[in-house]
Amino acid sequence: MIEVRFHGRGGQGAVTAVRILASALYLEGKYTQAIPMYGTERRGAPVVAFLRIGESRINERDLVHNPDIVVVLDPLLSRTVPVTDGLKEGGLIVMNFPKPGNEAGIGGRFRLATVDATGIALEALGRPITNTAMLGAFAKASGLVSLESLEKTLLEQWPGRLGEMNLRALRTAYERVTPPVDVSGIQALGKRPQEEIFSRDVSSWRIFKPQLDEGRCVGCRRCYIYCPEVAISMTQGKARVDYSSCKGCGICGEECPTGAISMIQEVL
Ligand code: SF4
Ligand code: SF4
Repeated sequence: MIEVRFHGRGGQGAVTAVRILASALYLEGKYTQAIPMYGTERRGAPVVAFLRIGESRINERDLVHNPDIVVVLDPLLSRTVPVTDGLKEGGLIVMNFPKPGNEAGIGGRFRLATVDATGIALEALGRPITNTAMLGAFAKASGLVSLESLEKTLLEQWPGRLGEMNLRALRTAYERVTPPVDVSGIQALGKRPQEEIFSRDVSSWRIFKPQLDEGRCVGCRRCYIYCPEVAISMTQGKARVDYSSCKGCGICGEECPTGAISMIQEVL
């Protein structure tokens, strides 16, 4: 039996990815078990989901503690979440990261494949929803599931244009994922304290941050009202962002009527 653990953030589609992968493997005659784990329903909060793949009926019912494979949907998550905890020696990590595996700050007796799933998702979907790109990367790096089965399952999940956009993300990541590299000689980056789900400092959740053009701000307060983290205040009729409280969801930019807020990618 092969066990897989997916790490992501609320809104990136980790639970959906596990469900699609389980269905695709089922098409290939495998027994599968998809286990979503719902924590706080808070966009941007760390989430996990699990998958078991077997050649015969699976009787285990607990969570996956010692995965063979870990999939990481967010490029910054590994800085604050111990994504390699319990990963078996020689295990595979498939990670959303825009640089080669030996620069990801992950070390240990593992193999690491990387793909810029955020960039691919932005190209294909126009949003940083990385789940389908990571499924393409998983298929290539693990060799456990065919691209064809994933494509078929994806189109059943999202018929029409949305399905086509997700297919593009899937196929592009399949082509671009790096071959797994041995990271046993790499010194793992020191981690920041583990994330507290209810912490006020959510800056480490962010891949994009809002940039304010004060000259275009007319003080309408829409961003202040809609920000789910209360990260925006109004000072002398202009909006101000408290970046330690900003998780980078982009709602302020979508709501701003004058285009005063643009979302820019943080440097990894
Ligand atoms: S991106 Fe905007 S709306 Fe989202 S948390 Fe940051 S300031 Fe608030
Ligand atoms: S929504 Fe835009 S214009 Fe309105 S206060 Fe916020 S930044 Fe200013």
